[in-house]
Order: sequence, then structure tokens, then C-alpha cells
Amino acid sequence: MTAEVSRRGFLAGMAGVGALAAAGLAGCAPSKAEGAKEAAPEGAQTGADTADWLGQAPEIADIAETKECDLLIVGAGNGGMAAAAYAADRGIDFMVCEGSTQVGATRHWFAALDTPPFADREPVDRQRLMGEIVRYSSGNCDQRLIKMWMDESADMFAFVDGIMSAAGAVVIADENDMPGGMGGTSFYTPPFEHHYADENGDRKGIEERNVLFEKHINEAGYEVSYGHLLAKLVREEGGRVTGAIFETENGYVQVNAKKGVMLATGGYAANPAMVKALSPVTAQSVTALGYNQNNKGMGIKAAMWAGAAKDLTSATMIFDRGLVAPGTPAGYTPESIEAGDPQFPSNGQFNPGTQPFLKVNMAGERFANESADYDYLPHAAAQQPNGTYISVWDGNFGEDVQRFHTLGCSAGTRMGVQAFKKEDGSYDLDGYFQKQLEDGRLQKADTLEELAEKLGFDAEAKKTFLATCERYNELYDAQEDTDFFKEAYRLSELRTPPFFGATLGGTLLTTIDGIRINADCQALDTQGHVIDGLFAVGDCSGSVFSGNYPDQLHGFACGRTMTEALHVVKVVADM
Ligand SMILES: Cc1cc2nc3c(=O)[nH]c(=O)nc-3n(C[C@H](O)[C@H](O)[C@H](O)COP(=O)(O)OP(=O)(O)OC[C@H]3O[C@@H](n4cnc5c(N)ncnc54)[C@H](O)[C@@H]3O)c2cc1C
Repeated sequence: MTAEVSRRGFLAGMAGVGALAAAGLAGCAPSKAEGAKEAAPEGAQTGADTADWLGQAPEIADIAETKECDLLIVGAGNGGMAAAAYAADRGIDFMVCEGSTQVGATRHWFAALDTPPFADREPVDRQRLMGEIVRYSSGNCDQRLIKMWMDESADMFAFVDGIMSAAGAVVIADENDMPGGMGGTSFYTPPFEHHYADENGDRKGIEERNVLFEKHINEAGYEVSYGHLLAKLVREEGGRVTGAIFETENGYVQVNAKKGVMLATGGYAANPAMVKALSPVTAQSVTALGYNQNNKGMGIKAAMWAGAAKDLTSATMIFDRGLVAPGTPAGYTPESIEAGDPQFPSNGQFNPGTQPFLKVNMAGERFANESADYDYLPHAAAQQPNGTYISVWDGNFGEDVQRFHTLGCSAGTRMGVQAFKKEDGSYDLDGYFQKQLEDGRLQKADTLEELAEKLGFDAEAKKTFLATCERYNELYDAQEDTDFFKEAYRLSELRTPPFFGATLGGTLLTTIDGIRINADCQALDTQGHVIDGLFAVGDCSGSVFSGNYPDQLHGFACGRTMTEALHVVKVVADM
């Protein structure tokens, strides 16, 4: 990777900026920047060889315009817009700069502790919650930061709820009870996940949170500065961070911030070089893109160029929903690598992928307990042929998923299929799976033999697959999984046609390792010292996750992101 903010990189970073592209980009070409580079600070900690992805800060000599504010928010996504709306209420002199042309997609489910909607449920067990987060991260977290989220998340909810309910949205306190358990392990599923709908329970009837936040700041006289792509931070020699430089269609714009710069630029899922270097298992277990394509890790890189330290371990949010055509291997496609623009073969999330049906590898063998967190199967499959696996179910799908009773967003399957329930109580599965059957990613057959053919098993694998299905039926009949120890209520039969087979890998949603921060979300340098003037929140920040996302802590990612964002505004307001 080169260090220059190239014309191509700028266009890619501004995905969706059709009008700007059409208007031409005079004034933003790399000729504005001199060729010389600043060296990355010695000792930058990344947990991996950074040679391929960190590069060096561009030296920018030609600033077209300079602006001043107290607080500079970089990135208008879930963290950035929450901070902006909160700062507007406090009359703070802030700017929010966003690389694209619109606010980032709203992530609907968010966690907050002991809020009024959960008043009728047991309080969150904070000791157990802390233990769960620490266990998931193997201790690679700052427990004081997590405590701050626990203590301040109810305030965050109150603020969000004020804006959402004023717009007619109704809060829903999500279900958290999974009486049958999962994977033979006591996962804690706290009562703390919220989302919004209209009075009929439909989200289509309400405006998205980030759109409402934007209206909120507009009404207070602020605007998002779109088309501002972070190029680098400005730091006094060894001292505080005083601002940032953005690439815009009018050249480089420097924004000076007297009190602080808050990075909220998301993770690095759209940066294949970073993904491959920092999380090789992701590159080998993912089949589908689910991330914001603007999130190329620029906030992390800019902070590291300015001397900040990154988490030593990586963490990705992978959901087991990357549906692909039979035979498609996991990972970036060879053609896209060849073309210099690595892409995963598929797109989006096939929600039923999470259901704990029988899952087999390409040799037709069962290889894991399917009653698991979202990323366990894709990770386990990375050690299997092709890196993918096949989920198999029969005509009892509708009844089975009710009994499986998964929680969080995977509950969308048992709820969604209800719309296809017929008067006689059976389900119209052709209707429910219409799209995936039509586009050829999902296979359907009258017999398991025929299904095996359609899934592309070779003769040997087909024999093994049929034997595995028979064995699975035996386990169901015995109501005991002596092979992989899945709970009996999550076993299912493969006897009632039609049979379905879905070839799956992971969908990559985001990365969640980033710049190390303290409990005030201040960025830390490689010695653990605060870098004055620099804050990081959400997916570009670190100190919370390691390895993976604790999926059963539903809404934790967005909940902690918005709480951190509000916390930074409080810190800045007190300066
Ligand atoms: C499809 C999907 C669904 C999800 N659903 C949930 C959920 O329901 N609940 C939950 O807890 N978590 C969910 N997550 C995870 C959650 O979205 C993140 O943890 C959280 O949004 C992080 O917010 P953020 O502000 O850090 O990043 P984002 O919300 O991604 O915002 C980053 C912003 O920075 C901008 N940006 C990037 N680079 C630059 C640059 N160089 N210069 C200027 N701007 C830049 C981007 O355009 C974007 O607007 C989901 C993730 C995905 C992908």
C-alpha cells in the first residue's frame, strides 16, 4: 500500500459519491501532497507485522482551508452521530466530518443496563456480565472502561429514547430468556437489548436513529460536513492532538479542535490488507460482505501515525450467514485478488444460517456442535475443506426453529417464518425461501440423495453425507447427542420432504479491535500514556474485545459505542 491518499483511494473511500465523481475532483489529486512521508512512530504496537497495511502518514503541504472548533468528531456513524446530537444539546462548538455523503447506517439493537423498559425483569448481574466480557476477551480489555459503559449506559438510553420517542418510535425491550441453553455452556444473556418500532411493531414506520440525530443537530444549527475523508491527524511534536486534515473535493481542509478530536471511523473490514494481516482466520472463514464499505481502518491508521497504540490482538464480528452457491470456497475470490480489489464471493446475511440444524463439511461429515455463537461454525469451518459447510433441514423447518428459540437478531428467523404460516398450521417454505431458491444459492430436493447431488458432493462425500444424516436421525430419536453434545431440544429430524441444503461461511460485519483507550476513551500511546486531545470510540477503538464478538451480549457493540460517544462529549464539556 502506498501512503499517498491516491485519487483512486479517495474515490473508493467516497463510495456512493456519484455527484462528486461526476463533477470531477479538481484540487484533490495527490499532486497536492508532497512525495515525502513521515515515519510511523517507533514501537507502534499492532500485534502483527504492519509493513503491508500501516504505511506512512502522507505529508500534506497544501491546505486549501482551515476551520476551527472545540470538538472535532470524525465519522458520522453510530458513535459519531450520537456524540453530535448530544453535543448539540450542550451547545458545544463542534464539527462532524464524514467521508461519504450520508450518515452511517443505523444499527438498531443496542444494550443499556437497568433502563425503564426492563423494570419488570431482574436487574443485570454486573458481576457476571463483567466476568463474561473479560472471559470472552481473555483479559485483553480495560475493565474500567467496561465499568464506565455499565454505569453510563442508562443515561445513554435516556438520551436516545428522548429523541426516538419524540419521533413516534416505541421502544421494545428484547427477550433474553434461553431456558434450554446453548452449547452446553452457561452463556449469560442479560436483559438489556433495546430496539425501536412503530406502534404496530414495524420498523418501516419510523425514521432511523442516525437520520433523527442528523435532524436534531440541523435544528440546533449544526451540519454534518460530508465529503471529508480523514487523511491524517495533526499532533504537536510529542504533545497534544490539535486537529485533523481531510481530503475534500476542494482540496485539503484542516480542522483545528481546541478541546479534542474524537475518532468514530468504524473498523477496518473494508481493508483487505488489514483483515488478512490482523485476522487471518477471518480471511479464511468469510464468504459474504456485510460491512460498511467506507470503513477501511483510516481512523486506526491515522491514530497510529500520531503515536497511538493498537490492541495487540484482533477481533471481528462474523455472523454465520454467508450463503453462497454450492462449491464456493470461503475467502476473497481469486479473480478479485487478481484484479487487485479483493472481495468476498457473496453479500449480506441469510438469517436462517444461524439456526442449529445439522451442519456438515464438504466431505459430508459433521464437525461441530451447531448450537453455538454466531462465529463458532465459520471459525471451525476454516479448518475444513473449502472453509465452508452445509446446513441441512427438512420440511419441519418452521416448527423446528420455534423450538430452537434462538435469541438476538437470529430470532428474526422464527419470527419471520410466522408470516408464511398457513391456515392448516404448516409453513409455506417455498415462499419463505423464494429469493435464495431463485438465485440458486439454496438447494431443495425431494430426497436426501437428490439433495447431495445438488450440493455437489462427490461420490465418497455423498455416501458419508447420507450416513451422517442417518446418524443424526438416530441421535434425534435417542434425544441425546452423544457425538457433539448438542442440547436435545436443538436436535431435529431429516425425514420429511422437501429437504434443503445451504452452503455457508461467515458474513463479516465489522472489526472491533482498535486504538487502545482508557475509561475516558482517551487514546493511549505505546507506553500506556494518554495522548492529550485524542479520543476514540466504537469500532475504531480497542480495549474491549479480543478474538471475537460476544454475540450473546446482544446489542453490546452499539450500546458501548453510543455510551462511549456521550462520555467523550461529557469530558469535553467539562474542560
Ligand atoms: C450490518 C450490520 C448490522 C449490525 N447490527 C448491530 C446491532 O444491531 N447491534 C449492535 O450492537 N451492533 C451491530 N453492528 C455492529 C455495530 O454497527 C458497530 O459496532 C457500531 O456501529 C460501531 O459504530 P461506529 O460509530 O464505530 O462505526 P460506524 O457506525 O460504522 O460509523 C463509521 C463512520 O465513519 C465513516 N468513515 C470511515 N472512514 C472515514 C474516514 N477516513 N473519514 C471520514 N469518515 C470515515 C463511515 O463512512 C461511517 O459513517 C452491526 C454491524 C453491521 C455491519
